[in-house]
Amino acid sequence: MQVYLNGEYIDHADAKVSVDDRGFLFADGVYEVVRVYDGHPFLMKPHIARMKDGLRALQIDTSSIDDLGQIAERLLRENNLTEGDATIYAQVSRGAAPRKHAFPPNTAPTLYVAAKRFTNHPASWFENGVAAITVPDNRWTRCDIKSIALLPNVLANQAAHAAGAFEALFVKDGVVIEGSHSNLFAVLDGKLITYPKSNYILAGITRTLVIELARELNLPFAEESLLWERLGDVEEMFLSGTTTEVLPVTTVDGKPVGNGRVGAITRQLVNAYARRAHPQVSVSA
Ligand code: PMP
Repeated sequence: MQVYLNGEYIDHADAKVSVDDRGFLFADGVYEVVRVYDGHPFLMKPHIARMKDGLRALQIDTSSIDDLGQIAERLLRENNLTEGDATIYAQVSRGAAPRKHAFPPNTAPTLYVAAKRFTNHPASWFENGVAAITVPDNRWTRCDIKSIALLPNVLANQAAHAAGAFEALFVKDGVVIEGSHSNLFAVLDGKLITYPKSNYILAGITRTLVIELARELNLPFAEESLLWERLGDVEEMFLSGTTTEVLPVTTVDGKPVGNGRVGAITRQLVNAYARRAHPQVSVSA
């Protein structure tokens, strides 16, 4: 597999970064994952815009990713990923420098980009939904930055896997806000809701698309909090994310969501997403 590292296209086995890299020492960096359908990066522009926002927040030069679009295209070609599903992973760290907390002067950022085959989730997950658990949100208050410091997300997701669930939902101050690697939508009192865009969640690129699709479908929608104590009243639930796509959730903490089956609003959005991702294939509504 060919990957990109700091200006070079090299074999994955030869891609090495310094032990002084601040990504390794401090998780001092940001990343993006872009979905690729039949060789076409999906929603590349908003992913690049979000990465630039993150770089600005970290005071890392945004020009480090100016060529990301072309790099991604070349990696897809060189790795024979022009058909089927794939992902682009891109990471920028502040670069290598002797270990000191404050920013070192004049450090060249490290840019790593890889394109990989992606095995989509089984169709049965979209048909029947997946399980989720709830966990306390123990993250920092800049979750809007797509930082490579993912330990709380890793531990939460591991807890979900250990419980036989797909996703862990973070609960902050009695509100179920988002997943460990996805955003959360629910249907409550007939209305589609998702936690408001803020510094407490990562405003997903897929979340924005789902909101756009909900508007197109004239679904009642609001950015509102889902109280943990109202989980028993939720009629439908689903996750959104670059690799997750629009994925129904039918149990939370072992209890059924609504009647335990994928609801009508969720079904419409799963199909609307599929039509956007694969415009050439017609999907029954
Ligand atoms: N929230 C978190 C914490 C995530 O890690 C992700 C996945 N990047 C998302 C939400 C979904 O974001 P996106 O739709 O941009 O993949």
